[in-house]
Amino acid sequence: MNYETVIGLEIHAELSTKTKAFCSCEYKFGGEVNTQCCPGCMGMPGTLPVLNKNVVEYALRMGLATDCEINKISKHDRKNYFYPDLAKGYQITQADIPICENGRVEFYHKGEKRIVRLTRIHIEEDTAKLLHDDSFKGTLLDFNRSGVPLIEIVSEPDLRSAEEAKDYLEAVRMLLMALNICNGQMQEGTIRCDVNVSVRPVGEKKFGTRVEMKNVNTFSGAMLAIEYESNRQINLLRAGKNFSQETRRWDENKNASVTMRTKEDAADYRYFHDTDLTPIVIDDEWLAEIKNSLPELPVAKFDRYRSMGISEAESWLLAENSDKAEFFEKCTRVGNFPAKTIAHWIFGAITARLNKSFVTIEKSPLTAENFCEILSMIEKGILNNDTGKIVLDEMFTNGGSPDEIVQKLSLVQVSDEEELKKLVEEVLKNNTQSIADYKNGKKNAFTFLVGQCMKASKGKANPQIINKLINELM
Ligand SMILES: [Zn+2]
Repeated sequence: MNYETVIGLEIHAELSTKTKAFCSCEYKFGGEVNTQCCPGCMGMPGTLPVLNKNVVEYALRMGLATDCEINKISKHDRKNYFYPDLAKGYQITQADIPICENGRVEFYHKGEKRIVRLTRIHIEEDTAKLLHDDSFKGTLLDFNRSGVPLIEIVSEPDLRSAEEAKDYLEAVRMLLMALNICNGQMQEGTIRCDVNVSVRPVGEKKFGTRVEMKNVNTFSGAMLAIEYESNRQINLLRAGKNFSQETRRWDENKNASVTMRTKEDAADYRYFHDTDLTPIVIDDEWLAEIKNSLPELPVAKFDRYRSMGISEAESWLLAENSDKAEFFEKCTRVGNFPAKTIAHWIFGAITARLNKSFVTIEKSPLTAENFCEILSMIEKGILNNDTGKIVLDEMFTNGGSPDEIVQKLSLVQVSDEEELKKLVEEVLKNNTQSIADYKNGKKNAFTFLVGQCMKASKGKANPQIINKLINELM
């Protein structure tokens, strides 16, 4: 019997607000332990939480970007459980009335558009961090992370494979970053997820027994966890064994999941309204203001770039790279060059030169205007792609306008046929073997000859004319 895997994800994203969710402590990853905390986020009795308005705004940005219904009135609840990283004995979260419900995330999987429905997005606080180390006995607590705002993005069980889950995770991460509400740094634990996996015979409508896996910190870890868990369940079913609903912990070092607890119900957490906090009431005007401030979303951007004739890979690069996308947009306004050509330059020669100088496009000597000047000289036949790159390089190294550089380095493209003919004849004379190879069907021998001619002209020959001359003279 063949089985189908059914996956739902609960993504926890740390919001990049300046201060924490319910106190005024600033939080930055990597700070000295227990320096970014106060009696409030350390759970001292007698302190009272005050909600950070930016947390609500950030949650609404995500809710609006994913077509959620926004609950104009929502509230906070206490999720009660004991663990050393939760000093208050409860986590402030949202139980029965989350801020956002019934949304959808659009993404691409294997070149096709998919939709995952969202059950809800709610606001909650992070816990402190437990520190274990070989250099000391026992466990220490770092409260810096305690009270850092999170949104939990809960999906419906709409995913069917580990690869699809990974593409969905990537899409959510890209969206969070495009909305400027989360830094998306996986290695800092900014995005974590709990994975729900069940299997069922292909064609079956009813869901199988669901297993939840906690502690998944990387996208590749999520893929491994899904594959491991789905195989485990299928093997048990094939062996005629049953298993019960449980929560398992994903162990990244062992690449295996182990039982954490077998019985868990919402009732076990004794959720109740946190009356220390007033309800969150959202007025229409504020909501409209937030909606109007949303940027163009990554999938929409990608679709637009594709429709301009840019390759799939470069369209994604533009969609997730805001400063390069901004440069690209400016270039399309400055000149009338094909979008594909501009994108090609941005992710080829320009990116290589930026990396060499360790600068961003904004801080580089490159502007949409001077770059378009290079493109225009190529279009007019003054430069070719190779000499265009030399001009670009010189702009970074010694500065100057493209026009000045072309004069200074005497880079004007040679298109004079008579002059080039001599050069091609010389190259052909010295490469008789390549001519023989080409005549015997070796196509790349021709490319080699073009390369030799370009080299002999120090990159200045017009490649179209070189091509034509080699053909004629051979
Ligand atoms: Zn605090």
